[in-house]
Amino acid sequence: IRQKIVAGNWKMNGSKESIVSLINGLLEMDGSSSEVVVAPSFPYLSQVDELISASSIVLAAQNVSQEVKGAFTGEVSTSMLGDFGVKYVLLGHSERRSLYGETNELIASKVKAVLDFGLTPMLCIGETLAERESGKTLEVCEQQLQAVVDVVGIASFEQMVIAYEPVWAIGTGLSASAEQAQDVHKSIRAFLAKTSESVSQKVQILYGGSVKASTSSALFQMPDVDGALVGGASLDAKEFIAIVKTAG
Ligand code: 13P
Repeated sequence: IRQKIVAGNWKMNGSKESIVSLINGLLEMDGSSSEVVVAPSFPYLSQVDELISASSIVLAAQNVSQEVKGAFTGEVSTSMLGDFGVKYVLLGHSERRSLYGETNELIASKVKAVLDFGLTPMLCIGETLAERESGKTLEVCEQQLQAVVDVVGIASFEQMVIAYEPVWAIGTGLSASAEQAQDVHKSIRAFLAKTSESVSQKVQILYGGSVKASTSSALFQMPDVDGALVGGASLDAKEFIAIVKTAG
C-alpha cells in the first residue's frame, strides 16, 4: 500500500516558454492515484510553482547545497527551495556523482540538510555497467545507502524516497527489465530490513533509467517498484501522462 510516485527529472532542459506548454499539457491529465512530481532547473521553480498551484502536481528540485546560508557563491539552500513550494530534492543523481564529483559523504550531508529543513530527499543510487558486469550491483547500492544511513540514521529513511537508477540505463534507451529492477529493489528493501523492518516496508523505491510508457506498466506491476524517476520522456507531456496512467 505504498503510493506510487511518478517524477519527471527535466535535467538542464526547458525555457520559460517551453515550460508553460509542458505544464499546460500535464494539467490536462485526469486525476491519478499516483503522486506526480516535476523537477525543473532552479530558475524555473517559481514559475512552475505558480503554474501547478491549482493542481495536485508536486514540485521537486534537482540539487541543493549542504550549507544553510552564507558565502557560498552559486549555491542554493534548502530554505530557498522551501520558499517555492518544493517538496522533494533529488540527491545523488549519477550525473552529479560522475560529472560533478559528488561523493557518498557529500551526498549524505546534503540529505541531512534537506531532512533538517523538513523537505524530502529523493536519494538516487545505482551501479555502472562495469560494476553490474562484475557482480557488484548490490555492493555499490548498499555502500551508497550505508553512507547516508551513517549520517542520518535508518529511521530517517521513512522521510525519504529512494530512486534506483542503474547508470547504464540512464539516457541510453536501455531500460533495466522489470525483473532486473524488481531484483534490485527487493534487495535494497532487504538491506534496510536488516536494521529496520518497518522502514524497509514504508520507503518508496522508484526505478529510473530510460522509462517510457511502453516499459512502465511492466515495471509498475513489480511488488517492490513504487514508481519511476523519468528523464527524457518527462519532457513530452503526452508521454509523461501515458507513464502516469500505467501507474494506475
Ligand atoms: P532517462 O529517463 O532520460 O534515461 O533519465 C533517467 C534519469 O536520470 C532520471 O533521473
